[in-house]
Formats: sequence, C-alpha cells, structure tokens
Amino acid sequence: MIENKILEALKKILDPLTGVDLITAKKVHNIEVNGDNVSFDLIVNDLEPMIKGELNMKAIEEIQKVFPGANVNVNMVTKESLARGPKKEEKEEYKTFVQPLIDLSGNPLPQVKNVIAIASGKGGVGKSTVAINLALALKEMGYKVGILDGDMYGPSIPTMLNLVGERPGLKKVYGIDKLLPIEAYGIHAMSIGFFVNPEQAVVLRGPKLDGVMKQFVKDVVWPDLDFMLIDLPPGTGDVQLSLVQLLSVTGVVMVTTPQQVALDDAVKAMNMFMMNNVEVPILGVVENMSWFSCAEAPEKKFYLFGKGGGKVLADKGGTEVLAQIPIIESIREGGDSGKPGVLLEDSPVRQYYLELAAAVDKQTQLRNEVSGPTKVVKITT
Ligand code: ADP
Repeated sequence: MIENKILEALKKILDPLTGVDLITAKKVHNIEVNGDNVSFDLIVNDLEPMIKGELNMKAIEEIQKVFPGANVNVNMVTKESLARGPKKEEKEEYKTFVQPLIDLSGNPLPQVKNVIAIASGKGGVGKSTVAINLALALKEMGYKVGILDGDMYGPSIPTMLNLVGERPGLKKVYGIDKLLPIEAYGIHAMSIGFFVNPEQAVVLRGPKLDGVMKQFVKDVVWPDLDFMLIDLPPGTGDVQLSLVQLLSVTGVVMVTTPQQVALDDAVKAMNMFMMNNVEVPILGVVENMSWFSCAEAPEKKFYLFGKGGGKVLADKGGTEVLAQIPIIESIREGGDSGKPGVLLEDSPVRQYYLELAAAVDKQTQLRNEVSGPTKVVKITT
C-alpha cells in the first residue's frame, strides 16, 4: 500500500529534537492520501523556522522517491493545536487511516519502551554493579539496552565498562549538536564520567545536576531501546527529583544489603518513589552481598551483614525480592577491571544476574499489563 510506503519514507527523516526518526518520535499524525495529494500533520514545537523549512523539503523529497509526482502538503502544527483536533468544518474531510499512538505527554524518549531506575538508600551497597550486570544480562536475553549513569557524584559506569578516557561523539541533527552514547559490550552508555573526572563531578550541585540530567535525556541520540536503566545516586535528592519530572519511569529496582542501617535509608529512598503524585511502581528488591562462601566449602554460608533485610524492604514496598546475590570476589574484580561478572562464561556470577534479569523482565511485563505509563511529575512552585 502506498500509505505504508509513505510511512517508511518519513521514517528516514530524523526528528531534530530527539535525533530519532519522525515516526518513532511520534511527530507525524493524520496522514491522508487523496489521488496524488498527500498531507499530514507534523508536530514542530520549539523549532526554528530554518529547521522547519528543511524538514518540509526533506519530507517532500523522501515521499516523492516512493510516490513520484505526489503533491505533498506538510501541515506544521503544535502539540497543543493537534490535541484540540481539526476545526469543526474540516472534520468530515479527515479520512485518517494512520493514527500513530499520539504522545502528547511530551515524553522526550518515545523510542525507549521501559525506563528502569536502579536506586539505593546508601552508597557502597552494589547499586552500580547491579545496574551494569543487569543491563548486560537483559542484553543477553536479546533486548536492546541503554544505561544512563545518573550517579553524578560518583560515576562508576565508565570504569565498569572499561570506557575510562573515552569521549562521546557528536552528531548534527538539522544544525543542532547532539551527543552519541558510547557502545560497550552491545549496550549504549552515557555518563558524566565521560566528560569530567570523578573528583570534578562532586562539585556539581542542584540546578547543575538537573541540567545535566536533562541533557542526558534530551540532547543524546538514544537509539530504539527495550530497556533504559538509570543508575541513580544513593538516597533521595535532586537527581531523583529531576528524573521523575523529566521522564515516565516504568519502575524502580531497589538495591540493598541485608543490614539494618542500609535498610533504614533504603526505605526512605523507596518511599520517595511511592509518594502521592510521584507513584513510580517498585518492581522489586535486589538483596546484594547476602552472604559469603569460600571456594573450599561453597555450601557454607556466612551472613556477614545479617539476614532477611531484602525481604523486609520488599514487604514495606508491597513488592518482592528479585534476587539475592552473595559476595563473590569475581564480582568486585569484574567491576574494577571493566569486564562485568555476568560476562564471565564459567562463573556462578553469570547465573545470578541472568536470573535477576529474567525476574526484572517478568515484573516489567506484569507492570505494563496492569497499568498505563507512569505520569511525569509536575511540580508547581
Ligand atoms: P554503589 O553503586 O552502591 O555505591 P558499587 O556498585 O560501586 O556500589 O559497589 C561497591 C563495591 O562493592 C565495588 O567495589 C563492587 O565491585 C563491590 N561489589 C558490589 N557487589 C558485590 C558482590 N556481590 N560481591 C563482591 N563485591 C561486590
């Protein structure tokens, strides 16, 4: 059908704001074909006139490649005018055959299916280690995965992915410079650690952090992804707040050790997501460093940090324990050497993370079946 060809043609054009194609970015609506006349609405909020002009020309060019001689009419509209719908007298004439899901919520990442935040109450509980290994395990399951290092004070993703010293590339999208995530082991990563040394990152405060988070969401050309994992800083703070105001977060995975002191902070961090108006679902809890066994007597478990803390946290959040991961030397070595444990073929580490990924996948699917997207938090001051 010619209509499908037109969709394919428009898919070749990039949205200047997100860097993904116009169809994935849900900028094209109400496509109509009448004889040789092709028309559609194109959302162009916040675009400069020159860029609108370029988009118009590009649309005509691409459509005429698949439909020579077409008279192409691009209606430049805003999200608001599209939401209001066509004027009354025009309504009968609208023979719409394609109505892509209208994303008028302003979601800046329409190309990302699930955004999962990895959170903890305290630092040092293994949150980043879980985030990286989970990302890679989801990739092994066949998903397209990205990881956004939101831990602005102590970015560890570059070290863990062996990317220290790497700098993201730039891509011009209609004259606007966008950042390209860096690919490692088949996943796409972005971190403040790609721009500054960890010591410099510590001086970033509130408003600046908010700005960096926004840039990492809006000024990075993220590809189509099934999962974007966001490694949050520990506790409750500016980055968490920016995140829930910026994006529809599908769910949160809490990481804790079984220890009581880690738990108290983890409950506070979890409660932030469960607050009225925020209401991001808690997908489950990862209890990390659950026990230690030595190679000589693997059946003997030493509960160095106590027992059962993950279950207590999960009960408080009305959720479940997704995995218990013991203390294993190769997990730490993997983090330090830039080859995460899940990639070690003959290690028990791999199995722990693959099982965690299967549990996260299942919880995400369940969550998506029972409720719609999380609402982006609007804070009025
Ligand atoms: P956080 O992000 O919570 O600050 P990290 O992921 O940076 O914590 O982990 C802190 C340290 O603990 C790192 O050196 C990491 O390699 C190590 N680590 C994390 N989980 C484990 C584990 N299950 N076994 C052994 N070492 C671990």
